[in-house]
Amino acid sequence: MVNDAVWDIGYLVAAALFILGIKQLSSPRTAPQGNRMGAMGMFLAVLVTLARMYSEGIVGWELIVGGLAIGILIGALMATRVEMTGMPELVALFNGFGGGASALVALSEVLGRLQEGDVPEAGVELYAIWVAIGLSGLVGWITLTGSLVAMMKLKGGFVVPLSKKWVRFPTWGPPWLNAVKILLLAGSLYLIWMTINDPTNTDYIWGIVGLSSLLGILFVMPIGGADMPVVVSLLNSLSGIAAAFTGFVIGNNVLIIAGSMVGAAGLILTFIMCKAMNRTLPDVLFKAFGGSGEKDQLTRTKVGSDPEEVAMVLDGAQKVIVIPGYGMAVSQSQHAVKEFADMMESEGCEIAYAIHPVAGRMPGHMNVLLAEANVPYEQLIEMEDINSEFPDCDVALVIGANDTTNPAARTGEGPLAGMPILDVDKARVVVIIKRSLSVGYAGVDNDLFYMDKTMMLFGDGKKMMNELNSALKDL
Ligand code: NDP
Repeated sequence: MVNDAVWDIGYLVAAALFILGIKQLSSPRTAPQGNRMGAMGMFLAVLVTLARMYSEGIVGWELIVGGLAIGILIGALMATRVEMTGMPELVALFNGFGGGASALVALSEVLGRLQEGDVPEAGVELYAIWVAIGLSGLVGWITLTGSLVAMMKLKGGFVVPLSKKWVRFPTWGPPWLNAVKILLLAGSLYLIWMTINDPTNTDYIWGIVGLSSLLGILFVMPIGGADMPVVVSLLNSLSGIAAAFTGFVIGNNVLIIAGSMVGAAGLILTFIMCKAMNRTLPDVLFKAFGGSGEKDQLTRTKVGSDPEEVAMVLDGAQKVIVIPGYGMAVSQSQHAVKEFADMMESEGCEIAYAIHPVAGRMPGHMNVLLAEANVPYEQLIEMEDINSEFPDCDVALVIGANDTTNPAARTGEGPLAGMPILDVDKARVVVIIKRSLSVGYAGVDNDLFYMDKTMMLFGDGKKMMNELNSALKDL
């Protein structure tokens, strides 16, 4: 039997790697290294846990090797096969798995204890363990079902098994739903209380599983449109909180540390996202800004321009601001955008990139894509810093961005109401590259497309950027 101190030292090193990793994530320059450190910490934590289980005779090496092999294979397949645009769904799914795993561990702990008759006497120990088990289950099941709904919302819908029919996922939230959610939460807390009063009755435990799973679904159903980033980061935080509770349940220090860090980091991100959307968390959770999920019917038209026309406008421009959005990720046009910027800079034009906090489909989406194309970090400018520069800008080049530039957000009505936007409409000329006049994620028509100073370049982002670059070279 190995001394417990050995395992604790292993966990301590893993926790130190997590902390150093998070510290390095705070700058894009050191972020890749931070990511590697975090992964190494997690690898160490898994190894120490498995070695401990083996040493204590809880599992044999066959299960350990088999479990590791299956986990590594699934993880590697998912990570290498996922499209960059599918990352948000994958992140939502991972959040859900995290919550589900914590809930299952808590469930197996309580059922195992009941089977072995290992129920603490009424007193502090019973309170502490049973409350931790109950909360771990409550938060874990909410995270699992809520994340699955969030994943389907990000995907737009799901395929019905067997019939292969595509069903659009609805955004549904009548006003009375808030009362139902509060009742479900109160009911779950009451059941946790009952498990303490009557610890051997498993009905209460299954009741918590049922109520909290339903609560997770109803909690995410009404949230839609531009508010999805807030809910995804909140679910991320909840998955950490569930893991921390589970750490208390099974007495695992590294789970408590890692869970608390994910919980805290997710909460910070949630509040950053709320600020970016000009919302409060209760507004997002209870007011359902997301709208009905129905797309506006477009009746207006706009004549498209061609790349040669746009190249002539760009000729001699002193300052160009590039506004990337989700369409840049879909078309993978970041390298063509960088080539465009290099060409303009070689002609003495100043280039900056305007980064909206919720552009794309995950926090930092644009930064990651532009870093991949070697765009210097100092040219990526956050919304509050760049907005004052639009009136001095000759051309604002919007590539696949829509909601984040939509002046409808200033009207105080609809799903985008109150969301701060990039003041693209204040530039002298606006060039927008996208395939059609269709709406963005929040489903709101964009007046920017129809302004006199706006030139639309209709087509796939990468194709149009390449054509624009060729036209610039031909000038
Ligand atoms: P939007 O989602 O508003 O719009 C993207 C535009 O890209 C579409 O209108 C589409 O128009 C265009 N597009 C799609 N494919 C291509 C292509 N191949 N080539 C060129 N254009 C293309 O993008 P924004 O980045 O402005 O806004 C992000 C939205 O997503 C916000 O509402 C945000 O709240 C939400 N969101 C953000 C998350 C985050 O964490 N960042 C997470 C979840 C949601 P067309 O079809 O005409 O080409």
